[in-house]
Amino acid sequence: MRLKILEANEKNLVLIIEDVDVSIVNAIRRAILTEVPTVAVEDVIFYENDSPLHDEILALRIGLIPIKAKVDLKFRDECECNGKGCPMCTIYLRLEKEGPATVYSHDIIVEEGVAELPKNIPIVKLAKNQRLKLEAEAILGRGKEHAKWQSGIASYKYYPEIKIKEDCTLCKACVEECPRNVLDVEDDKIIVKDELNCTLCKACVEVCDYNAIDVKGNDRKFVFKVESSSSLDARDIFIKACDVMIDKAKELEELL
Ligand code: SF4
Ligand SMILES: [Zn+2]
Repeated sequence: MRLKILEANEKNLVLIIEDVDVSIVNAIRRAILTEVPTVAVEDVIFYENDSPLHDEILALRIGLIPIKAKVDLKFRDECECNGKGCPMCTIYLRLEKEGPATVYSHDIIVEEGVAELPKNIPIVKLAKNQRLKLEAEAILGRGKEHAKWQSGIASYKYYPEIKIKEDCTLCKACVEECPRNVLDVEDDKIIVKDELNCTLCKACVEVCDYNAIDVKGNDRKFVFKVESSSSLDARDIFIKACDVMIDKAKELEELL
């Protein structure tokens, strides 16, 4: 397998993956969606809630806030506390606010050095004298259990290969038809100026009366994209998904 990074930042990763079967690429995609562990709120205890939202809706909104653990957390069902909850497997959070105010993610209080919450995610608006007071527990989980633990979104496409044949009469119909601006004319020739932008829709092939353009996806080369929707970096998500697959392959090998 060969990799080439086209874009890598906190939120996005774009790679070209070569010399690999589609089943492996799809397995990495599925691992990103379902297997990479992240931290999210699981239990909320409401002491006061005068806000316009029901407890359940507020709990759902709080559950979707990405939480960055700064300590190594264990899965609760693998912890020595036998699933009761302890600092080894649980991050404890609390929130207390009185209106008029908007309650944001950064109003949630967590012990320093244990976790970090993102700023400015609105949770609810409180009118004058309305109060919200709650405690919450965040734990490690996987996207296959609930979407709130999904680490990110992943997708891939076959690498587009576009060939302009000698039969081309330079009618430019393909250039005009392409919805992604992939083709252009240069030095009296049709050129492929941005093949990565091609969606393999084949509109250019269909419009060509001379059968002079060929478009196909390379089934051993892929453009792979990861977008983080959690507190993990897109690059870490990809690496962790590969680690999960390696562990699963080893488990299978031991069973055989
Ligand atoms: S297949 Fe579609 S996107 Fe790709 S070059 Fe042809 S018209 Fe453009
Ligand atoms: Zn525990």
